[in-house]
Amino acid sequence: MALESINPATGELLEKFDEWSPGKTQETLAAVDLAWRDWRRTSFAERAANLRRAAQVLRQNKDEYARIMALEMGKPITSGRAEVDKCAWVCDYYAENAAAMLADEPAQSDGSRSYVAFRPLGMILAVMPWNFPFWQVFRFAAPALMAGNTGVLKHSSNVPRCALAIEDVFRQAGFPENVFRTLMIGANQVETVIENELIKAVTLTGSEAAGRKVAAKAGEMLKKVVLELGGSDPFIVLADADVEDSAETAAKSRCINSGQSCIAAKRFIIEAEIYDRWLEKFKDAMAALVVGDPLNEQTQLGPQAREDLMLELHGQVETSLAKGAELLLGGKPLKRKGYFYPPTILAEVKPGMPAYHEELFGPVASVIRVQNAEEAIEVANATLFGLGGSVWTRDSSKGETLAARIEAGAVFVNGLVKSDPRLPFGGIKNSGFGRELSYFGIRQFVNIQTVWVK
Ligand code: NAP
Repeated sequence: MALESINPATGELLEKFDEWSPGKTQETLAAVDLAWRDWRRTSFAERAANLRRAAQVLRQNKDEYARIMALEMGKPITSGRAEVDKCAWVCDYYAENAAAMLADEPAQSDGSRSYVAFRPLGMILAVMPWNFPFWQVFRFAAPALMAGNTGVLKHSSNVPRCALAIEDVFRQAGFPENVFRTLMIGANQVETVIENELIKAVTLTGSEAAGRKVAAKAGEMLKKVVLELGGSDPFIVLADADVEDSAETAAKSRCINSGQSCIAAKRFIIEAEIYDRWLEKFKDAMAALVVGDPLNEQTQLGPQAREDLMLELHGQVETSLAKGAELLLGGKPLKRKGYFYPPTILAEVKPGMPAYHEELFGPVASVIRVQNAEEAIEVANATLFGLGGSVWTRDSSKGETLAARIEAGAVFVNGLVKSDPRLPFGGIKNSGFGRELSYFGIRQFVNIQTVWVK
């Protein structure tokens, strides 16, 4: 099987890469394990120096990496540059803070001295998605490497150029050989990799289906796993909210990354009192988005990353319409080359429709009318996912009270749900478990070792 780089703006095949044989994969795992034996003994200062150089390489080659993302998965070029900057930020953040985050913690016991130490685990497998092809990898790699682990990346089969470019960042930064490697393999080899005793833990960002498979195998092999899966984030607008600000942010959140973000707002839950007024502003904001070639500086919404994903999204829209949703904008693939889907609004979304229950991974907003804040919370939680959510109200203490009742890993009051190296990121329910980023993220893949001295 080959890994193919296809330009989603044109459908053109850019490049094909042969998938590695299982033998080559196993040899690479052995080399990365060998590299770990030295890397685990390096000081935080040494690791930090490597990671700071990686941040520099990212910043220096920002345009090149943004172009690779634009061509390979359709990310608008300006968003690609911002993504690379964020990767540099997470590298600098952990270079600066890891030593303090993993410092020994004194503990009281019956020994003369006891403390908790955080030791590296070894080689970690990262199975990653195409939607933020640089960011998802760096938010795993920066803390994992600072903790003294090594990493192997199995990237999505549709972003092989990104996968190779990321490996090259570490090479150019001067990391010792094999501390971070990309495995050029398809999903079919992942189970064998997890079975390899040299792999100590696994992290996966992607769909629920892939998460279940990988977690099952990791469970069988008794290996720790962190899962960052899909989401269907609620965006609650109460009657006292700033209509303009919330409507504009709603459009931005729904259409970030051409709608292909796990923490995009997906279900817009609006109090009846302002429903019509809010919807009008929201429709204006959605309709104003510039759809086009991802290489164009003005483009805000590019193509969907793959044809099959666009068709799946369109199927969800059609079924929801057939079940009575109201189409206010968009609703059909654009008649042009490539996999373009326009900003779309489905109103009067009700239980029983895919737009109510499923994750819509594209620029399609589901708008739901509710009578009051109580009903808004009920609807917000009527999902199998639990990644993020936001509440909009001029009374921010009421916002915080409601936030506590939203079943999600992150709730933002009067703001767009976003990731930030300083804040933990992750979900509950079918959105997965474990946390990335912040102090919590770097402690996922360490041996929390108790040391007791008589
Ligand atoms: P996906 O199939 O879950 O892909 C994510 C990663 O998992 C890829 O590296 C993929 O490899 C791998 N993978 C897939 N099936 C696997 C299996 N059975 N065993 C081991 N690894 C496996 O996601 P997708 O097809 O790119 O997108 C489908 C859906 O996933 C979207 O509609 C969306 O709902 C969700 N998604 C969520 C996020 C997020 O950030 N939460 C990101 C992307 C997608 P291959 O590419 O080789 O199959």
